Amino acid sequence: MIQSLIPRFGEPVKLADYDPRRVDGEWDKKSAEEQIAKNTEASRELAYRLYAEDRRALLLVLQGMDTSGKDGTIRTVMTGINPQTFQITAFKQPSEEELDHDFLWRIHKAVPRRGHVGVFNRSQYEDVLVVRVRNLVPESEWKSRYRRINEFEELLVDGGGTLMKCFLHISKDEQRERLQARLDDPSKRWKFSKGDLAERTLWDDYQQAYEAVLSKCNTPLVPWYVVPSDRKWYRNLVVSQIFRETLEKMDPQIPPPEEGLDGIVVE
Ligand code: AMP
Ligand code: MG
Repeated sequence: MIQSLIPRFGEPVKLADYDPRRVDGEWDKKSAEEQIAKNTEASRELAYRLYAEDRRALLLVLQGMDTSGKDGTIRTVMTGINPQTFQITAFKQPSEEELDHDFLWRIHKAVPRRGHVGVFNRSQYEDVLVVRVRNLVPESEWKSRYRRINEFEELLVDGGGTLMKCFLHISKDEQRERLQARLDDPSKRWKFSKGDLAERTLWDDYQQAYEAVLSKCNTPLVPWYVVPSDRKWYRNLVVSQIFRETLEKMDPQIPPPEEGLDGIVVE
């Protein structure tokens, strides 16, 4: 299910070729939810082993347009994981202090320590997405950032990190429905900002900026997954599956106990 979501390495990505409603296999909402429960249970055990092993870290990077479901995905996929062993960082507009440093400064500080799982709700990629679309820095500056990001991610991998990067791919129609739902439901209105409408008018520019990211920063070492996200249950199924399989591949081991513990009786 998940290998086919990685674009071909070194080839330009056209998002029009990726159906946000695509479902691989015979899934429906009910069977997906059952599988998600199995995945979260397996991931809970694996994250426990990762913590006990205390040698490597896993970083889950989530990107997507407004309403693509970054928060909801985190809520589902991290269910049951010991809160002491993971941290979530949501990257907002950079502060004055952050802007006084290079763009990776705040990112590097948030990278999970050994034994931990980190989740990025938005990430280093905002610096070639919103920054590019909104011309927040000149092109001469953001152009080199793809390479910088690749080098940075390589550094993390060299240091014992594993990254899984998920682009939550929704259609423009689906976004309209979700934004409207936020407006129509008083309990969801807090999630809505008029700025979301301004961003929506730049939809095509954002899709292009995402295509550049998926084309330039997708490598065998640190691949992107394009997650069909118009259906929430399928999106959650896919990300929980990637999370589980990534941890399984890492295969963390509980370290052997100190020697000479046999026969000790605590008085
Ligand atoms: P939200 O995820 O809805 O809380 O919104 C966070 C906002 O911060 C989004 O509009 C992002 O585009 C914006 N943001 C995140 N990182 C950056 C960045 N590096 N430069 C400018 N805006 C950013
Ligand atoms: Mg928002």
